[in-house]
Amino acid sequence: MKKIRNFCIIAHIDHGKSTLADRLLEFTKTVSQREMQAQLLDNMDLERERGITIKSHAIQMNYVYKGEEYILNLIDTPGHVDFSYEVSRSIAACEGALLLVDASQGTEAQTISNLYLAINHDLVIIPVLNKIDLPGAMPEEIKDEMVDLLGCERSDIIPASGKEGIGIEDILNAIVERIPAPVGDPEGPLQALIFDSVFNSYRGIEVIFRVKNGSIRKGDKVKFMATGKEYIADEIGTLGLQQIPKQVVECGDVGYLISGIKVAKEVKVGDTFTHIDRPASEAIVGFSEVKPMVFAGIYPVDTSEFEELREAMEKLQLNDAALVWEPETSAALGFGFRCGFLGMLHMEIVQERLEREFDMTVITTVPSVQFRVLTTKDKILNISAPSEMPEPNHIKYIEEPYINAQIITKSDYIGPILNLCMDKRGILKNQIYLTAERVELQFLIPLAEVVFDFFDKLKTISRGYASLDYELAGYQESDMVKLDVMLNGEAVDALSAIVHRSKSYEWGKKLCEKLRELIPRQMFEIAIQAAIGQKIIARETVKAMRKDVLAKCYGGDISRKRKLLEKQKKGKKRMRQVGSVEIPQEAFMAVLKIN
Ligand code: GDP
Ligand code: MG
Repeated sequence: MKKIRNFCIIAHIDHGKSTLADRLLEFTKTVSQREMQAQLLDNMDLERERGITIKSHAIQMNYVYKGEEYILNLIDTPGHVDFSYEVSRSIAACEGALLLVDASQGTEAQTISNLYLAINHDLVIIPVLNKIDLPGAMPEEIKDEMVDLLGCERSDIIPASGKEGIGIEDILNAIVERIPAPVGDPEGPLQALIFDSVFNSYRGIEVIFRVKNGSIRKGDKVKFMATGKEYIADEIGTLGLQQIPKQVVECGDVGYLISGIKVAKEVKVGDTFTHIDRPASEAIVGFSEVKPMVFAGIYPVDTSEFEELREAMEKLQLNDAALVWEPETSAALGFGFRCGFLGMLHMEIVQERLEREFDMTVITTVPSVQFRVLTTKDKILNISAPSEMPEPNHIKYIEEPYINAQIITKSDYIGPILNLCMDKRGILKNQIYLTAERVELQFLIPLAEVVFDFFDKLKTISRGYASLDYELAGYQESDMVKLDVMLNGEAVDALSAIVHRSKSYEWGKKLCEKLRELIPRQMFEIAIQAAIGQKIIARETVKAMRKDVLAKCYGGDISRKRKLLEKQKKGKKRMRQVGSVEIPQEAFMAVLKIN
């Protein structure tokens, strides 16, 4: 145990976390030159392309320091607010963190929220000034900032470049010297924290854990404390670039467990497992279930592909424990699924994975949070789809979820951020200066106003210099109304939204305008109307195509053209025929583009 170090890397996006991790793996010969490919830890295609880390992974390195061999477990963390629960679990598995700061950019938003998480878990912070090779690097200024933020000594900061391989040995030495060895009772009852799970189509779910107390042997009978499920440890081991099977994973170490678990849902990140024979009296940290925040319908573009979509969703769920769904029908779109996501990024990722990994073309409908409705018969309904909303005369009141949002920013941006939050029906609760320059703002804001585009807006108005973290603050009564959209007089349920009454008129108007832009001209005129109950509040028209355009379309060999058209459809444009009108995918997301 004395020779183990568990650490993570925290950094604002693009400050060079993945690149530095690659260098550490190379330097410790965890990977050979031959195996080396850029950004090894990001092993999902989507992660590589988008340059984001979605899931956390762990990897073990061996490092010889002053003639003694150490085990260094690098625990990678995702860098997006949607996945912040996973960040905090990863951090809970470490004793130390490398805090990377880009020498040309300085300390930025995401760095700060993760830094506070790390500090809350009593992690030792090793400050690293990265990318010092850049011509635009401002090492002295940025060091000042880091000293200011961390209260560390200038000499504690390690200058480095992941790209050029500068400072790598200093960082490894600092990990051994400064980060404490794990503490725990090797003889005590087993307590292992699950901080990740990985889906393997041959071997089932691989559980990634950190042993806090006791140790686990191959063949042991274990129990997951939150779910109460029991398993046999068929295989355990540590994580190199590949898995390294072991007879025992000791106290303080990080490892994997395989025990024939088939479904990701059975494994809850944050849960603790223990021995059945000699159980620990309690779990390690307060476990809380990750809850979906955003709900939307997912429908196949081609209605005949519903069963295929169901299979794809089932497979996707095997390795995405946060994704929940149930069948749903829409008058406009037919059979599909109502899905719950952690946030908008999660939703985009699910949609993209369905398309890439399962070759499905899908339409997602207007995202919504979950409202709570008390009916006149005193029944409480949880409603996450506008179509489920009862008629107004059957509703006593509606409650919507609120969050406590914590925004950390530079003092220069307080004004614009206050305006943004007020505009989103937020209430400023507190304002704390962390340093002369850096301020923390605490707001109570409806979740519905935050989940969609708030984060992007915040980034824009603060030039990237604002971090956002939030937790649910419960439900509050709210004056919500259902906004319906009609195309040529027919209500299209998949376009309805639940909005606050104070914004409903403006929304209706803007939504119609947006839809007019997004719905392509067709052979006839299309009337777009927004209504609350029976009352029409806005109207726009998509004019019919002009004759000469039609002529061009239908000139020449008609049957060939038709074939071409059908082919195009097969080539799967994301369009859905609703009644007589073709609606493109973008239209279902139009509400998100309203500001
Ligand atoms: P992450 O988002 O924190 O994982 O950052 P990445 O490791 O993906 O790096 C983001 C970008 O910065 C990539 O284009 C890297 O090539 C580049 N980069 C990373 N480290 C360095 C460095 O030390 N020097 C320079 N000049 N560029 C770097
Ligand atoms: Mg990365």
